[in-house]
Amino acid sequence: MSYISMNLVTMFYLIASVCFIQALKGLSSPATARTGNAFGMSGMAIATVTTVALIFKLQAQAASSGGLGFSLVLLGVVVGGGIGAYAAKKVEMTKMPELVAAMHSLIGLAAVCIAVAVVAEPWVFQITTAGVALPFGNRLELFIGTFVGAVTFSGSVIAFGKLSGKYKFRLFQGAPVSFPGQHMLNLGIAIALIALGLVFCFAPGVEPAWTPFILMAVLAFILGVLIIIPIGGADMPVVVSMLNSYSGWAAAGIGFSLNNSMLIIAGSLVGSSGAILSYIMCKAMNRSFFNVILGGFGGDPAAAATGGAQEQRPVKSGSADDAAFIMSNAETVIIVPGYGLAVARAQHSLKELVEKLTHKGVIVKYAIHPVAGRMPGHMNVLLAEAEVPYDQVYEMEDINGEFGQADVVLVLGANDVVNPAAKDPKSPIAGMPILEAYKAKSIIVNKRSMASGYAGLDNDLFYQANTMMVFGDAKKVIEAMVKAVD
Ligand code: NDP
Repeated sequence: MSYISMNLVTMFYLIASVCFIQALKGLSSPATARTGNAFGMSGMAIATVTTVALIFKLQAQAASSGGLGFSLVLLGVVVGGGIGAYAAKKVEMTKMPELVAAMHSLIGLAAVCIAVAVVAEPWVFQITTAGVALPFGNRLELFIGTFVGAVTFSGSVIAFGKLSGKYKFRLFQGAPVSFPGQHMLNLGIAIALIALGLVFCFAPGVEPAWTPFILMAVLAFILGVLIIIPIGGADMPVVVSMLNSYSGWAAAGIGFSLNNSMLIIAGSLVGSSGAILSYIMCKAMNRSFFNVILGGFGGDPAAAATGGAQEQRPVKSGSADDAAFIMSNAETVIIVPGYGLAVARAQHSLKELVEKLTHKGVIVKYAIHPVAGRMPGHMNVLLAEAEVPYDQVYEMEDINGEFGQADVVLVLGANDVVNPAAKDPKSPIAGMPILEAYKAKSIIVNKRSMASGYAGLDNDLFYQANTMMVFGDAKKVIEAMVKAVD
């Protein structure tokens, strides 16, 4: 029987890597996102099949081959792939961040398991021959890979719990968990980890130094929990993208140990794109990365409390019919979608409303803020799901100059991304770029109450003389508007 040659493995891995790069390129714009996804899926399929073929070859070459290992690999691919496909199919768009957190935890755990297997029997992975100690470089890679994997695993489990908000367990609550001396404890663990790393890497003899290795893994699991619990639930999307980056680096680290170019390339792509995404999200919120990690306004219970109980100021409110009348008589309408639109799943009704307005000769545009919703690109995905034409959708920098001339701005379930408080240097969101809806001639805001948004702040836009609030669930309100436009 002939097995796959190493040249072919390298070639297929190269093709898969090119697919991954094309996937990232495609995913950078809504218009090419589907093609990007297709590239990503093809790349992963090629990489998986090639790796399974490689395992088959190695298994056959190994003297102890019994066939069991290969069947287990296939079983893992089928069961794991099945669960992943089912979960991805079932998940609602607003629950995407927690699905991603759950997946990252598995990547972290996989990195730890692989590293343990390599430390135990490096000759099976053709890193050394039996009876020869692991070289220093491999020990270091495995130590770092296990550390990053363990932090990613436990951190992602906490992030998942906080994002789902369904569990009673205190550490899974959205509110930050902090205690005196928390930072000192983290620092102490970090120093202990460095010491354990030195002991593990410089241990003499052929047998691996299991005690420092296991102690490090346990401490890294604890550290993962400790660094995520003080972060407020609403900051979790940034944390998830950061953990995404960690999981990539963990995979790349293990790739070095296993001498697997595919893991190194895919891991580095995930690691660097996750880091860039975290940076973009922080920039769009005008917050420093450390501010998020150390618990900023998203995790400030005091801010949330003041946001919950707003001072009583008069607002003008109207009905969906009033709003429909105003929009029907406008020349230009700009729509600002936000988190509430996603919660209400009102994107299809919205598309219908826009079609009716357009039919009446109104020029309608959608304005997208980079961090509207709860994950990057959330609004783009939402509108794409309803098959809104891309040429109606404008990014913040392209449309901000047009608000001053717009007859009507319709704000749907958005709050922070249109909050003029960002222009006030004393505000907690000072400097955050916003969609300048406050400049429009007439503003219609739909939300259920006067409650604050993610940042826990009151919004002066709602009290402007030219603003009309239309209270209610976005879907019901938009459906009523659709009827009224007839
Ligand atoms: P916000 O969270 O500021 O506001 C959403 C508003 O939607 C709420 O005020 C809520 O008011 C309203 N709402 C909720 N449910 C409904 C419903 N069913 N129908 C109508 N309205 C509803 O959202 P934005 O999109 O304006 O801003 C996003 C925020 O999230 C920003 O502060 C951003 O920094 C942050 N963030 C975003 C990330 C991303 O990647 N996109 C990542 C991390 C944070 P009410 O309860 O009165 O209805």
